[in-house]
Amino acid sequence: MRSLRISVTDQCNLRCGYCMPEESYTWLPRSRILKYGQIAHLVRAATLLGVNKVRLTGGEPLLRKKLWRLIEQLDGIDEIDDLAMTTNGVLLVERGAEVFSAGLQRLTVSLDTLRPKRFKEMTRGGDLSRVMAGLDLAQELCPTRIKINCVAMAGINDDELESMLDWALDRDFELRFIEYMDVAGATGWTRDKVLSSENILERIEAAFGAPQPAPKAGTAPANRFHVEGRGAFGVIASTSSPFCGTCDRARLTADGTFFTCLYNEEGTDLGTAIRAGSTSEQLAQTLAAIWVQRSDRGAEERLALAEQRGILATASHLRTRPQSEMHSKGG
Ligand code: SAM
Ligand code: SF4
Repeated sequence: MRSLRISVTDQCNLRCGYCMPEESYTWLPRSRILKYGQIAHLVRAATLLGVNKVRLTGGEPLLRKKLWRLIEQLDGIDEIDDLAMTTNGVLLVERGAEVFSAGLQRLTVSLDTLRPKRFKEMTRGGDLSRVMAGLDLAQELCPTRIKINCVAMAGINDDELESMLDWALDRDFELRFIEYMDVAGATGWTRDKVLSSENILERIEAAFGAPQPAPKAGTAPANRFHVEGRGAFGVIASTSSPFCGTCDRARLTADGTFFTCLYNEEGTDLGTAIRAGSTSEQLAQTLAAIWVQRSDRGAEERLALAEQRGILATASHLRTRPQSEMHSKGG
């Protein structure tokens, strides 16, 4: 366990069809949402076991009030040398300055299309111009190169692979194409909507010439490539070629449920212990006990289903397991 992904809220200001396709949801109880001090306490405990990377996510993390205050606390933890956030970018114009000045080091913005009308459709109501303005600002403030996550879906946005990469290379963003995953929340998932990384790379090769393999960034899941004379991009083959064997990520939902795999339905409630005042050492012991028993191979098990592979959970089932939703676990 090196990387902790913390979902600070299950609320979102968009409704991407691959993540939140339903009309209504069971939200995490407000009274159980961890306060910033409690999250920082858990992070300190995790550092005792070797965690040195934190990524804030959601739902939409920038919806959480005064997120900069959490970032400031996490920035003060010496052992954390990589403090990142994944956002849909809608609120970057309003909140970008405060999160970077509080110590945010790396930023990933999720963006699946450059077409305003399609963006509105894919996100059910989003305004692309706000994301673009947010990216302009973030590029001035972010101390490292911004990453763009693009879920590539057959028949939805696959006619934009080349234009998205061209745009990202021009703008000096590192684009990562992500395969559409059959995670909880993706209740409309079908195999034929998955554009495999192999397909993606063939298309990129046809348009830009053969991409040259580039060094991987640590245990990060993206296979990276260089486009001659332009820059790097990545492909995350989470659906067709999972990387469970090298996964060093743990996840915490906003109510303190701890997951060791994105595909797990059940997590461990740490929120109760955190609220009850457990010490860092006690929390670290609990985390260690969970982690050493971990034998998760979620994505590999899904792949082994082959033709039988369908949605992971129905919407009605997910209403009884709100922590297991993608917008609760944070992706
Ligand atoms: N709201 C923020 C955002 O969209 O960046 C953070 C949370 S979102 C759940 C984190 C990431 O999960 C996003 O990059 C999103 O594209 C990705 N994601 C959600 N559902 C997915 C799915 N079914 N397959 C692949 N990626 C998915
Ligand atoms: Fe889209 Fe992120 Fe919101 Fe999911 S959590 S609906 S991916 S913006």
